[in-house]
Amino acid sequence: MKRILLLSLLNMLIWPALAQVPTRRPAPAAPAATRPLPAPQKPQPQAQTQTQPSSQVQALPPPNHQPQRPAPARANGPLARPRLVVGIVVDQMRYDYLYRYWNKFGVGGFRRLLGEGFSFESAHYNFVPTYTAPGHSSIYTGTTPATNGIVGNNWFVRETGRPTYCTDDKTVQAVGGSPAAGQMSPRLLLSTTITDELRLATNFQSKVIGVCIKDRGSILPAGHAASAAYWYDGTNGAFITSTFYTNELPGWVQRFNAAGHAARYLSQPWTTLLPLAQYTESSADDVAWEVPYKGEEKPVFPHELPRLSGSLPAGVVATKAASGEKPSGAPTQNLDLIRSTPFGNSLTCDFALETLRQEQMGQRPGQTDFLALSFSSTDYVGHQFGTTAIETEDTYLRLDRDLARLLAAIDRQAGAGQALVFLTADHGADQAAAFLQAHRLPGGGVSAAAVRDTLTRTLVRRHGPGQWVLDFENQQVYLNRPLLAQKSLKLTDFQDEVAEILRAQPHITQAITATALQANASTTGLNRYQTNGFYAPRSGDVLFVLDPGYLEGAGPVLRGTTHGASWAYDTHVPLLFWGWHVRPGESSRAVEVVDIAPTVARFLHIQEPSGNSGVPLLEVIRNTKP
Ligand SMILES: [Zn+2]
Repeated sequence: MKRILLLSLLNMLIWPALAQVPTRRPAPAAPAATRPLPAPQKPQPQAQTQTQPSSQVQALPPPNHQPQRPAPARANGPLARPRLVVGIVVDQMRYDYLYRYWNKFGVGGFRRLLGEGFSFESAHYNFVPTYTAPGHSSIYTGTTPATNGIVGNNWFVRETGRPTYCTDDKTVQAVGGSPAAGQMSPRLLLSTTITDELRLATNFQSKVIGVCIKDRGSILPAGHAASAAYWYDGTNGAFITSTFYTNELPGWVQRFNAAGHAARYLSQPWTTLLPLAQYTESSADDVAWEVPYKGEEKPVFPHELPRLSGSLPAGVVATKAASGEKPSGAPTQNLDLIRSTPFGNSLTCDFALETLRQEQMGQRPGQTDFLALSFSSTDYVGHQFGTTAIETEDTYLRLDRDLARLLAAIDRQAGAGQALVFLTADHGADQAAAFLQAHRLPGGGVSAAAVRDTLTRTLVRRHGPGQWVLDFENQQVYLNRPLLAQKSLKLTDFQDEVAEILRAQPHITQAITATALQANASTTGLNRYQTNGFYAPRSGDVLFVLDPGYLEGAGPVLRGTTHGASWAYDTHVPLLFWGWHVRPGESSRAVEVVDIAPTVARFLHIQEPSGNSGVPLLEVIRNTKP
């Protein structure tokens, strides 16, 4: 009797929770007729059929009345997995862009993902600094810099006395590009990625390929066991790799590079997709907080890309490509400029589509392949023009079209409904400091150089001449520990003193020493972000936080924008799942970016990454009760 009562009580507790099935979003409406967007691709209906007919299989009753079990693998058929997983990272995409530009998106891109998929509306980063390399690493390792070791894009190495870049590896050689661009690998990433785990789970039969203009946006997501990773080299306008992966670019990559796509994109001026007057979601075209391109007087449309990128006549490239001749010799054009235009994303999309096709990803029976794709021109454009610029809006409208191309290609490649896709960002961004000031909003620019100068002058005045500060990076101060030892100064006392000097400077919310942080590893407040971002062998001695809205830069940052803080504008990112076994809907539950990798692990029935600290988001998985 007691037991029955207990069970009914349990039921009462459990069932209301189960009844909260996420509501399906209404299918996106067609774009308003007044908007001259080209006819968007019609979304293909998602296949309702699964690989195995589920009705013939009688599911076993869940043991112990626990409805939390994920959908079990079929007892009498092959294991059900998606044919393809595509992870999409949009560099610097703030959560609110999904809705800020909603009315101007077509139906085949962002709106298709939202309409047919599942959106987590409150997905945040849980560490600082919110930069590209830590962001991408967190998405794919399911953990934070404290565990995966990627504490910044760059960090100071005490053993060498020099900073290192997150994917630097002088033990490997460039393949297809310049040494500076190509000597890269994931060796500094300390834990496995979800892509590594897929390779391990399938005895290395799954193909895992990373694609991004930025090296770190390709290498870190693709993991240590990647089949390939490609990134862009602006010196020759090519997608390249390193000997970590292969000794020679595949023939199809060489042919793609020889076709001169980057030069072709730069042979046209950048004009807006819609008439300029329709960009009512953005600031005026010519405002003080945008940075013009080098060689430009004003940051306004049209941006004359052919002139700005150099003087190679467009016809030359086309002729070379037609004759099968590789562009060779010294660069005659600044092909790096494409990064800072929306066409860097289009080029990335072109290359991703070619990767899917040439590598037959998602087409091998019984295999699950993984394309780790990152669009980074959104970040370059955002840094240059800020979050409210027409340039930024236009870049997202164009990305939306590229996404529609990509989703249509994924449908063709793997079959409708057979691919699992997620989309998120590696961090958000603040508004431009001068924009904030112009609108009397809190925020502004803080010069890292000025903070450092004040700090070092104070230390010299108190302790005598010497290079007390070795580096100032990622809102962290690296102290000269050998000098302290030489002068018999106690490290912890000195850290306290530096923290106190920093706290006295304007717009610094908080400064905490590494010693204090480690002694009281915090799970709440600002220190939680710092604890999660702190890996002792690579992190600094004192960590500081700027007031909300304040951006750090080499000089006084008033124009353009940046990111890196633990404030909402930098941590809040979109998180969408779409496709294979994804339950359509949305949730406003607070979730973290580290939850993505273990969620993908649950979809695939594979191990989560080695350092995983995330929790699977079960409400997104069809036939699974959270
Ligand atoms: Zn980024």
